[in-house]
Amino acid sequence: MKAKVNEGCIACGMCVSLCPEVFRFNDEGLAEAYTDITEETRETAEEARESCPVSVIDLN
Ligand code: SF4
Repeated sequence: MKAKVNEGCIACGMCVSLCPEVFRFNDEGLAEAYTDITEETRETAEEARESCPVSVIDLN
């Protein structure tokens, strides 16, 4: 399973704080998914997607 942060991230930090195993801030200060989602991180990654205030996280 992969995560993707689409255009429109407002850098609120929610996904990075909820699921740092998958999301981090890039050099531009925007969130990015830097690794694949595993069984262990699936639940928190889904929580991050649901918590994103601008709904720019895709999981598939
Ligand atoms: S939760 Fe959404 S808006 Fe906030 S940092 Fe993550 S991708 Fe960006």
